[in-house]
Amino acid sequence: MKIETDCSVLKDIGVENPSHASWDTDVLIVGSGAAGLRAALAASASANVTLITKTTLKESNTFYAQGGIAVAMNVDDTVALHVRDTCTAGCGLCDIRAVETMVSEGIPRVGELLDWGANFDWEGTLPRFTQEAAHSRRRIVHKGDATGRETTDVLVQRVLNTERIRILPNAFAVDLLTDANAPSRHDKHTCYGVTAIVEDELVCIRAKATILATGGLGRIYPCTSNPQVATGDGFAAAWRAGCEMIDMEFVQFHPTTLYLEGAPNFLISEAVRGEGGQLLNIRGERFMEKYHEKGELAPRDVVSRAIQNEMRLTGFPCVYLDITHKPANFILERFPTISDTTKRYGLDIRVDLIPVRPGAHFMMGGIRTNTDTETNLQGLYAGGEVACTGVHGANRLASNSLLECLVYGARAGTNAAVYAASQAPFHPPDGQRFSTNIGTSPELSAVGTASPSTEAAKNAIRETLWKNVGIERSSEGLQQALAQLQKIGADLGIHPYLPLSLHTTDSAFCETVNMLNVALMITQSALARMESRGAHYRADFPEQDDTDWQCRVLLTGDNSPQVIEL
Ligand SMILES: Cc1cc2nc3c(=O)[nH]c(=O)nc-3n(C[C@H](O)[C@H](O)[C@H](O)COP(=O)(O)OP(=O)(O)OC[C@H]3O[C@@H](n4cnc5c(N)ncnc54)[C@H](O)[C@@H]3O)c2cc1C
Repeated sequence: MKIETDCSVLKDIGVENPSHASWDTDVLIVGSGAAGLRAALAASASANVTLITKTTLKESNTFYAQGGIAVAMNVDDTVALHVRDTCTAGCGLCDIRAVETMVSEGIPRVGELLDWGANFDWEGTLPRFTQEAAHSRRRIVHKGDATGRETTDVLVQRVLNTERIRILPNAFAVDLLTDANAPSRHDKHTCYGVTAIVEDELVCIRAKATILATGGLGRIYPCTSNPQVATGDGFAAAWRAGCEMIDMEFVQFHPTTLYLEGAPNFLISEAVRGEGGQLLNIRGERFMEKYHEKGELAPRDVVSRAIQNEMRLTGFPCVYLDITHKPANFILERFPTISDTTKRYGLDIRVDLIPVRPGAHFMMGGIRTNTDTETNLQGLYAGGEVACTGVHGANRLASNSLLECLVYGARAGTNAAVYAASQAPFHPPDGQRFSTNIGTSPELSAVGTASPSTEAAKNAIRETLWKNVGIERSSEGLQQALAQLQKIGADLGIHPYLPLSLHTTDSAFCETVNMLNVALMITQSALARMESRGAHYRADFPEQDDTDWQCRVLLTGDNSPQVIEL
């Protein structure tokens, strides 16, 4: 079966006219990254599955992952050591049970990926484990610097070979369908699917169980390693439907994205530093040892802030990464994707320094889930980057994210299928068109319509966040950001808590609203946390405060952020 950007794939699976159909399914999965694909495989063991995705099946953060997957499989490694490193990086906020689950179940999840044909790099009888920042052991399995592509290829192939999984590409999930009978958005709702834009039509996809696996939100910042699909849609739709959101202040900035005229913010993997790459400022000075005893292998937040500081001190818009002291053959073999990409822009990393600066990379927070991936909405599960089980705490350990996707993706799929099996059939059994199906919901009232200035609004959100809700924050800057974001919302004519579905089939407008929703969540949470911890750095509270702030910030919709104990 081919994977195309058009809906021809639907015809292969028997859906003749996607824009005039609506669907009923046992388990609906939104997103086709590692979490969504792995969830689909797990759920299809006992349920019929529909997987929808915003563009093509392979377009996701997962596809672009470079460095690898952290797993405690090496001979000198243990689950306890990997758990310890994860919790140290998380700066005291990790949920230990969630971490133990991820690390221990990660071993069989990576093992089965190998059994399914993942062609990772090998050394003798073991995968070739590499080192990354803040890991106490060499524990990263990888495929050169294209681990995400290899992982995606293996999972996609398996999904395509599974008859019970129906795939719908180019389907933009807009809002969650929730039980409109619940008296207010704070009462326990049941989720029974999503509304989605398919070929400019709004359709209703009803599901007994729904899994959100929509990935991250890097694109809400102007400088990011994330592809265009990462506009935070799942976080925003969940929030509008009344999901609890947690740890939203913790956005990880990757220290080294390519900074080269005409080139995209391509990620220069941590593994380059893991293999001995050195950071230099414009004066040619190595600087990381001034900032952290681990030098270039310090945690990401430390390296990102150090780079930003060097840029400030030297007045230059980037620093340089130097791997030229390594043998040329090693560089080409170990970093083929980075070499090829930079070469397209006239840079030969065997002999040239690589200009880099930090970019938004990963969201530690998200939809609050337990280790069974359940959210506070009945029938709604979440896995991967959009979810927050607490495995990353205030900062993610490098290469733990793909591991999280495999483990919690599989858990979401299994649990959603069990839940779906306990549910009664839909009435009426065939799905109806969206407008007649839920158009009477009292929750849906007027919101703005698509505006020609959508792109301008997106850019305004990005600039606001970069300036005041980025690597370094302060009360004054965050207050300014909040006011600016509220003004952008007012100009767009939207109410942040209302579903969008009835009012637009313009996915660009939906993305803009989603970006705004997410921007507000991050800003509110960042204002609430009056200390610095992990990826969240407040210039006005530069120290970590374990007396008052060893706790988590929870958002429950239009209420003020709540602080909850660990
Ligand atoms: C450049 C880069 C390098 C990385 N390197 C590593 C690494 O080496 N190791 C590691 O562990 N992690 C790495 N990460 C992080 C890791 O890749 C991601 O956190 C992880 O892949 C997220 O997987 P996911 O399945 O949760 O989401 P994604 O892989 O992002 O997939 C999300 C899916 O949801 C779809 N979607 C989004 N919105 C909608 C919508 N409205 N409707 C329908 N579908 C939607 C998207 O199209 C996509 O298919 C890297 C990330 C990037 C960007």
